[in-house]
Amino acid sequence: MVQSHKLEKRRSSGASAKSTSAEYLRKLSLEDEDDWETSSDSATSSEEGNVSSGERRSPTRRESATSINSVEMLSNELLEREASQSFEAVPHSPVQNPPVRNPPVGLGGAGRTLAAAFQASEHIPYKRAEIPEPSLTPYDKNFCKALVSMLEKRKNYLYKIHTVFSDDSWDPKELEKSGQAGDYIEASPMSMTPFKVAAREDSDIDFGMENGVYIPLNEEHSIAVPVAAKVFFSDLHDLSSMMNSAPYATFAHRRLKLLQEKFSLYQMLNSEKEFLSIKALSHRDFYNVRKIDNHVHHSACMNQKHLLRFIKKRVREEGDKPVIMRDGKVLSLKEVFESLGLSPYDLNIDVLDMHAHNTKNTTFHRFDKFNQKFNPTGEARLREIFLKTNNYVKGKFLAGITKEVFDDLAASKYQMAEYRLSIYGKSKSEWAQLASWWYDNKLVSPNVVWMVQIPRLYAIYKKSGELDNFGEFISNIFEPLFEISKCPNKDPKLVAFLDNVVGFDIVDDESRHERKVHREMPTPEEWDVEKNPAYNYYLYYIYANLYVLNSFRQKRNMSQFSFRPHAGEAGDVDHLAGAFLVANSINHGINLKKNPALQYLYYLAQVGLAMSPLSNNCLFCEYSKNPFPTFFERGLNVTLSTDDPLLIHMTKEPLVEEYSIAMQVYKLSTADISEIARNSVMQSGFPKRLKRHWVGGSKMFENNPYQSNVPDVRIQFRKECLEAEHQMVYKYGMMPSE
Ligand SMILES: [Zn+2]
Repeated sequence: MVQSHKLEKRRSSGASAKSTSAEYLRKLSLEDEDDWETSSDSATSSEEGNVSSGERRSPTRRESATSINSVEMLSNELLEREASQSFEAVPHSPVQNPPVRNPPVGLGGAGRTLAAAFQASEHIPYKRAEIPEPSLTPYDKNFCKALVSMLEKRKNYLYKIHTVFSDDSWDPKELEKSGQAGDYIEASPMSMTPFKVAAREDSDIDFGMENGVYIPLNEEHSIAVPVAAKVFFSDLHDLSSMMNSAPYATFAHRRLKLLQEKFSLYQMLNSEKEFLSIKALSHRDFYNVRKIDNHVHHSACMNQKHLLRFIKKRVREEGDKPVIMRDGKVLSLKEVFESLGLSPYDLNIDVLDMHAHNTKNTTFHRFDKFNQKFNPTGEARLREIFLKTNNYVKGKFLAGITKEVFDDLAASKYQMAEYRLSIYGKSKSEWAQLASWWYDNKLVSPNVVWMVQIPRLYAIYKKSGELDNFGEFISNIFEPLFEISKCPNKDPKLVAFLDNVVGFDIVDDESRHERKVHREMPTPEEWDVEKNPAYNYYLYYIYANLYVLNSFRQKRNMSQFSFRPHAGEAGDVDHLAGAFLVANSINHGINLKKNPALQYLYYLAQVGLAMSPLSNNCLFCEYSKNPFPTFFERGLNVTLSTDDPLLIHMTKEPLVEEYSIAMQVYKLSTADISEIARNSVMQSGFPKRLKRHWVGGSKMFENNPYQSNVPDVRIQFRKECLEAEHQMVYKYGMMPSE
């Protein structure tokens, strides 16, 4: 289906587009910052209606969808497609009671208690509150149409990831055993032999960059191409005007409130049943359900006490080792400490001074100051020595502490993480360097998969003369990936590393002022000014190149990557609109609280949100005002993650700390936190066979309470709510206009 989108569709920008984009760049360089908001607003509003239908990408899926009369089928198709990245929907079924399971058997005294709880929970019926269907105004019906259109668009944008690893190649229990202390072998969740790379033949498909996106040059090999940039910017504009319409916001707010009230009624009527059914689950409790930290930056994955201990030990044992070059002179670790006027004995947590929340609000709304906290004792050179992969010691210290973190994860057994490593886009050699660091230090753990984060720092490299234009930034990131996917024998270390990378992320300060994007944007090759492009500009070009790369890698039977950017931590709500169209799931998303229509869309599409209320508390949203509990009650696909344990958390188990605080403050039940942990498994990039082993399935509503600790009745409730909303939205959204 995706392959029907021909290259010509993307190449639709004409001469007038060039002049408009040149104008955009000129304004960007010359205009006063204060003018951005007003001038961009007028620019975007004047484009309304400018997009002729012929310029839009051929909506193959949308057209075929509209020819189907059954609302149920459409709703089902949507669930199924949405599920493709981390979920797969179960077929639509009429409302029914959850499946009956067998009582626990073969147990002694405790078993009798469990059996009694099981019998009691089975005898309590699942109680539903009957909610009549609302009567909709013409505005509401129009809103349903707009919602259907956006949901269908999202389906068209997303790349469907195909598993390439055989599901039956090994038993998940084998992997878990490999992580136990004393019996350690090198295995990762993606492979039992992650460092063995089979030779593969080269591909004869060549790629070149055109308008900021890599495309196949010999076209007989049809590689799927993404939606064109101008269509994305135009869709973004449509979505933005939809979500800012007042009558739509009212309707969405009412639906979200109703969902929240439904949850409250559900809890009131079924808490006893939930409590007993969880009690009856032999062996399983919250401590031994799998919890995945879906959103955590690798260079901040250890806690502060751990880093402190590690630094002291290194100075003691390797004090004479040369570790850094400063002013043409190589310094040993001891000399670095002398130059800072510090002895290792003096070091304590307060001298290290990395906790963001120890600073009496000095980091609140100050992303720059939060970032400075990454420097131990405020010294950039200690950050370079201990927390970088590419330094004088070739990242040895960071690799050493990473292995200790792996040991902690192995000891906890039930906690997993998706650590993000940075690729900056400054040079094409970054990938090979990062992969060597990973490969040479053998950084695999059964509890860890990797992600790559791209900081939005083009402007800094442009200013320092390292880059000429934004196209170079994109090409530094993607060219090595196309190259290695074409000729994998050139760098087996990079091949092995990429097999362990599950997704891409974009990061940086969203609160910084930016000019809104409009339909006729300059291409990345034209973007040669020192201003940073807007968030949604980065978003599109990373998405589009990833899309082509995924398509190529699928053809080559290689692993593919999901797109899970940071979005909605701060700044314009439009960031979340762009992410709705192109991201598989996102990190943060707190700004959804500002826009009910968009929040409702995120609910309907069940876009995953890896939220970090403790991190938000240091930066953009106080803990008590965090929308996490509201989103959870409404049924958005939310989970808890740590973001930066080094700057935020106090204990050896930062993820459990995050859950613990949320549980206390937001008054969450065991069923609630188990559901949140189950969401983390579903949102993650861990292989399906592990998801089945951990929660009983990899599809949206598949569940085995004996593995997930989530009562079946809870999943049933969530499913009924989502189906009811889909049925209503599609019923009115598919009606001909009155
Ligand atoms: Zn983050």
